[in-house]
Amino acid sequence: MPPEPEAVINGMSVDVEDWFQVGAFERVIDRADWDTLAPRVEANTNAVLALFSEAGVQATFFTLGWVAARYPRLIRRIAAAGHEVASHGWDHARVHTMTAAGFAADLARARAALEDAGGVAVTGYRAPSFSIDARTPWAHAELAAAGYRYSSSVAPVAHDHYGWREAPRYAFRPLADSDLVEVPVTVAEVAGRRLATGGGFFRLLPAAITDFAIGQVNRAGQPAMFYFHPWEIDPGQPRVHGAPIRSRVRHYSRLGAMRGRLAGLLERHCWGRVDRAIGVA
Ligand SMILES: [Zn+2]
Repeated sequence: MPPEPEAVINGMSVDVEDWFQVGAFERVIDRADWDTLAPRVEANTNAVLALFSEAGVQATFFTLGWVAARYPRLIRRIAAAGHEVASHGWDHARVHTMTAAGFAADLARARAALEDAGGVAVTGYRAPSFSIDARTPWAHAELAAAGYRYSSSVAPVAHDHYGWREAPRYAFRPLADSDLVEVPVTVAEVAGRRLATGGGFFRLLPAAITDFAIGQVNRAGQPAMFYFHPWEIDPGQPRVHGAPIRSRVRHYSRLGAMRGRLAGLLERHCWGRVDRAIGVA
């Protein structure tokens, strides 16, 4: 019998933001009101840390600078458990709403808060709502100039809120003069069509679809890139009124089942921090 092929380490990631900071609600909740809303991000992220600890998995926490500035102990706890502290920008503004200079300022402000809180260097970045796409040809150059080693900010799929369908499916170097790696979120490919995975797709669709996508990617010798949010394991979060019905259905469905689903996913595949999964650590 030939030896089993060595398992690919897949990237496990958490986008650390609170229930009122998600892209789907940005038109109904003003950023100016964030500090008046009941925070749940610290408790929910602690629950995520417990889940990873039980599974013996280390992961990457793409965290808002806004969160790091308010919950520095949480960032220290993430780092102390051996997870990667990475950036999700300052306040979840989408990259394609900024100028190149505004993006550089957002990166710097978020990183300062994350590094102050965590005491570790931040070299990974995920754009809010996967908002690096054809509209932001300057974004990767700004990340490289700021010293980032990788970005996981592209969804190579067509979606109503985001997506850059023409982007490569697997990790690539977007710049000729830099080692910066872009590692897109995993998509499955079925009959020439790309299907999104992770986040709400994992929560709402049968887990077998995610398992299929991960297997397909691993058979190509590539690590899968999975993500979810701390609020997705919190059925008790306040309900936001006034948001489009489609956003509300996506946000609130099957929250109670998510923790168990994640535990199963952690067990069925090999997972690690994103920097290690893509070999830049
Ligand atoms: Zn986000």
